[in-house]
Amino acid sequence: GQKVVLITGCSSGIGLKIAVLLAKDENQRYHVIATMRDLKRKDKLLEAAGDTYGKTLSLLTLDVCSEESVKQCINNVKDRHIDVLINNAGIGLVGPLESIGIDEMKKVFETNFFGVIRMIKEVMPDMKKRRSGHIIVMSSAMGLQGVVFNDVYAASKFAMEGFCESLAVQLLKFHVKMSMIEPGPVHTEFEMKMLEDVSQKEYPGADPDTVHYFKKVYLPSSVDIFQTLGQTPDDIAKCTKKVIEASSPRFRNLTNPLYTPIVALKMADETGGLSVNAFYHLLFNLGGLMHISMTVLRWMTCGCLRSRTISPN
Ligand code: NAD
Repeated sequence: GQKVVLITGCSSGIGLKIAVLLAKDENQRYHVIATMRDLKRKDKLLEAAGDTYGKTLSLLTLDVCSEESVKQCINNVKDRHIDVLINNAGIGLVGPLESIGIDEMKKVFETNFFGVIRMIKEVMPDMKKRRSGHIIVMSSAMGLQGVVFNDVYAASKFAMEGFCESLAVQLLKFHVKMSMIEPGPVHTEFEMKMLEDVSQKEYPGADPDTVHYFKKVYLPSSVDIFQTLGQTPDDIAKCTKKVIEASSPRFRNLTNPLYTPIVALKMADETGGLSVNAFYHLLFNLGGLMHISMTVLRWMTCGCLRSRTISPN
């Protein structure tokens, strides 16, 4: 029969694309429950979904930051039966630490970390009882490697990785699968929101040197990296579909082969010196040449690393 797939954060970006791709499956193998905080924002999704709405696609309201909303949403699913849970909703946060309030940081954890846990706690018991199901988490390459000025966002994704790595072992015993998707940069509103934010903000509390490194060194290279290495939300949707359809899905799934050397650096030197120094030199000594250095890094590390990523094609 049809698999019931529930996705969080479907009003834009990657979540929207996953919902549409699965709802449009040729063999109608999925019933997609696309969820979002505010159904007033459903138009973009419905436009992309076309005539699948009401057939293989339905909508529900869900705010991952509210326990009540999560419970209500899952109770509205027929028999509370979900085969695949895709935890996609997430928010970014970038900037000098000195200018970010603790409340803003907590909001990132409320969404990216506790939001996923709320969902898993609500859905997992039924999956365990049925001895089947697949939990998917939209992590990030920043869940495996920290990136300068993304301290708190990276921490929220690291936290998720640690949580899931721990839980995956127990779930295996109950035949419930767990997979992380780790995209590098993806062109979505996420990126737009970040750039808009940055051009408006003043960064009070941060010293002029730090603001300079953030605005004049980090940001241009970040924009450069998005432009040269960025994938599309469609790419990530295709990777996610592959993970769902794999007979034995992998736990970790980097989607961008250009990011495997970064993870390899960390594993090649357990003291952490290699990755901290490499990032330091990439940022401060090479500046705009960062993407070229990334390419060189890729050449330097062996080709077998490429096969470790999941490709959209
Ligand atoms: P996006 O901003 O377009 O999508 C995020 C979605 O989550 C939005 O629709 C937003 O409304 C929703 N959301 C936020 N808070 C929510 C809440 N409390 N409850 C329900 N929904 C909520 O950005 P995106 O790039 O599509 O991001 C999707 C996921 O991919 C995120 O988890 C993000 O961390 C991850 N990711 C993005 C990138 C990137 O470069 N864009 C890279 C790696 C990982």
